[in-house]
Amino acid sequence: RSRAAAEGWTGPGRTSDGHSIEILANVQDGPGARVAAEQPIQGVGLFRTELLFLERTTEPTVDEQVELYSAVFEALDGKKVIVRTLDAGSDKPLAFATQPDEPNPALGVRGLRIGLADPGILDRQLDGIAAARERTNADVRVMAPMVTTEAEAQWFAERVRARGMRAGIMIETPSTVLLADRLFRHLDFVSIGTNDLSQYTFAADRMAPTLSNLTDPWQPALLASIKLVADAGRRAGKPVGICGEAAAHPLLACVLTGLGVTSLSCAATAVRAVGARISQVTLAQCEEAAAAALEATDNLTAAKAAKDVLQ
Ligand code: PEP
Ligand code: MG
Repeated sequence: RSRAAAEGWTGPGRTSDGHSIEILANVQDGPGARVAAEQPIQGVGLFRTELLFLERTTEPTVDEQVELYSAVFEALDGKKVIVRTLDAGSDKPLAFATQPDEPNPALGVRGLRIGLADPGILDRQLDGIAAARERTNADVRVMAPMVTTEAEAQWFAERVRARGMRAGIMIETPSTVLLADRLFRHLDFVSIGTNDLSQYTFAADRMAPTLSNLTDPWQPALLASIKLVADAGRRAGKPVGICGEAAAHPLLACVLTGLGVTSLSCAATAVRAVGARISQVTLAQCEEAAAAALEATDNLTAAKAAKDVLQ
């Protein structure tokens, strides 16, 4: 029954009583973007640019970057694309950008910290994104990964705006959850990366299977963090998306909707199941499920409590 509903779902994202929630896809290259564009998505919520550079031993030139970004922008044919600047380091080492000998790479120089250490890498990437945007007339926004301070968010946003684009950051660290209201002074939007936010909130390696209960997005403390950010977004009147794996689970997607986020971005293969499930429930049911999950004592009881409300 749910498979048939998923196949029949044509978007846009909304609950059965008409509350809108954008359904977006995560992509990493032109071919993937073309596949995603065949799904009923409203755009791309996370374009992971580092994956274009993984095989490289040297930094791609700006012209090479323009080619790569243009391929993704063209595939989306005018729909919104949120580009994430290089998230090298930690689980995504890059020969030309990251330090090979860090004792704890997840807590090392990764994400925006590479741009802070060597602004030229970030500036050349932003030049490439801006040029590809101009060439394709795409609706492009740009966000930074692994931000931890208000000054970093401000520093990044100024560089993006100087090139005429809208700026956001990923919420992946507890410090940015706590600062959410203040960060919105500098930003047009944020997107919560639940994979890393779990890792850094629970002090549990996202790659460790033995800790997967702690990095499970159903953990009430993670849901509470999402709620804090969603509430801050509402106060600021600015969008709060989710682009980690959490957004790919249909039941959890209903809970995230109930927590107040404004978009969900997931693998293209998950888009229809997520959109269909949300279309079968009301906003009030989503909110009730979210409240029940927040009250639970761990991830398993949170999932069960939400399921009891939504089924
Ligand atoms: C995340 O951390 O949730 C995220 C979307 O980014 P990545 O998985 O690429 O680190
Ligand atoms: Mg991340």
